[in-house]
Amino acid sequence: MTASVVSEDLDTYRLRAREWLAANMPKQQVVEELVAEGDDDEQWLRARELQAILFKGGFAGICYPREYGGQGLAPEYQKVFTEESAGYEMPILLNVPTLSICAPVILDMGSEEQKLEYLPKVLSGEIVLVQFLSEPSGGSDLAGLITRAERDGDVFMLNGAKTWSTSAYAADYGLCLARTDSTVPKHRGLTMFLLKTDLPGITMRRITQVNGSTEFCEEFFDDVVVPASQVVGEVNNGWAVASRQLFWERTAVGGGSPYVSGSGNRNAAEGELDLIGVAEETGQLADVRVLELIGESYAMHEVQDNLIARVTAAITADQLPGPAASIIRLFHAETDQRDDDIGLAIAGGAAVTGKVGVRGPGEMGTRYLMRQGASLGGGSTEMSRNIISERVLGMPREYAADRDVPFNQVKRSR
Ligand SMILES: Cc1cc2nc3c(=O)[nH]c(=O)nc-3n(C[C@H](O)[C@H](O)[C@H](O)COP(=O)(O)OP(=O)(O)OC[C@H]3O[C@@H](n4cnc5c(N)ncnc54)[C@H](O)[C@@H]3O)c2cc1C
Repeated sequence: MTASVVSEDLDTYRLRAREWLAANMPKQQVVEELVAEGDDDEQWLRARELQAILFKGGFAGICYPREYGGQGLAPEYQKVFTEESAGYEMPILLNVPTLSICAPVILDMGSEEQKLEYLPKVLSGEIVLVQFLSEPSGGSDLAGLITRAERDGDVFMLNGAKTWSTSAYAADYGLCLARTDSTVPKHRGLTMFLLKTDLPGITMRRITQVNGSTEFCEEFFDDVVVPASQVVGEVNNGWAVASRQLFWERTAVGGGSPYVSGSGNRNAAEGELDLIGVAEETGQLADVRVLELIGESYAMHEVQDNLIARVTAAITADQLPGPAASIIRLFHAETDQRDDDIGLAIAGGAAVTGKVGVRGPGEMGTRYLMRQGASLGGGSTEMSRNIISERVLGMPREYAADRDVPFNQVKRSR
């Protein structure tokens, strides 16, 4: 790996990044055909290759510490690199959750051995990480999960099920939260594991969504033997690890992660939402009502960018508590869903009759089918509002019948 020059000023860094990108990274091709999420094995391989090129060139993990394979630079350097990388093919698929949620959890909560073992492999594209949090019984009450891991000497025996695991089919490890003690209240008996996805006893299935995507997976665990060395943080203190993970998830979903590199959607072929293109294609570029809708979308994104900058700066400076990341997570859903509504309104009937799987008005129809995803993925917006009211504004806590009750004595429906 090329050593980075820590004292380099931003302008010099920008020029060096510009030259390196031109010499080493392939130019982004404009692809009209959209690849269905879940049907994208080649894109995952490509993302790993591209990440390896960044790593070799000293431009991977720009804000990760140098001792774990990163560059140890401030977020401004990442921002500059992302600006310069526009127009180049980048491993966008690895941004969420691998680089912006899971690896930061290992960095913040993992043992020294785990950081040295896994982080360089993540940053070089060798391993992909995902999240095994939600369960068929529900995701909002995360601490109430029922997947259990029983200790047997140096190993744990894992049994249960997880669901809605984005991109798990392409992953090497998942951060998996399980119950290790049910005799204590729900938050106190949990443990986080870095679980290898191909261990004997794990059955992974794809879930087909209404838009045709099969990127979600569900996993069933039957007597999976997990080495105790895979515990992240302490046994029965998994809630602390999960809380950190939720912080990074809200930050990433909200658009404020310092660990993402490059811009654009996870689907490399998709590119940014193109409302002007849709208006042009449907002959409405001179329609004032349509221009107002496009202007509204641009204004929302401008507000979002400034909100992200303000909230992340305030959290970094301890002027706002960590749970304030829910503010940008919530605004992401508002912006995303308004975009979907606007896209559909402009495309009109062409959203239904337009060609599916290519950019243009038809894309607005399939985007709209996924509209509600933005208010669920990364924790629901209702939960974000709860967190903002209770932990940022200091309003009274929501009543919970299971508070301080040992988990095995909590009444639950069959
Ligand atoms: C795009 C996307 C990606 C995802 N990726 C992953 C992933 O990689 N890994 C993973 O583990 N999960 C993932 N999820 C699952 C996601 O975390 C859950 O959908 C989410 O936490 C909500 O859980 P649930 O769907 O079980 O709804 P439930 O928890 O059953 O909630 C149902 C509804 O009730 C509301 N509700 C529940 N409790 C309260 C309360 N106390 N106050 C007010 N309202 C409440 C919720 O807001 C929601 O609207 C993903 C989901 C989406 C849409």
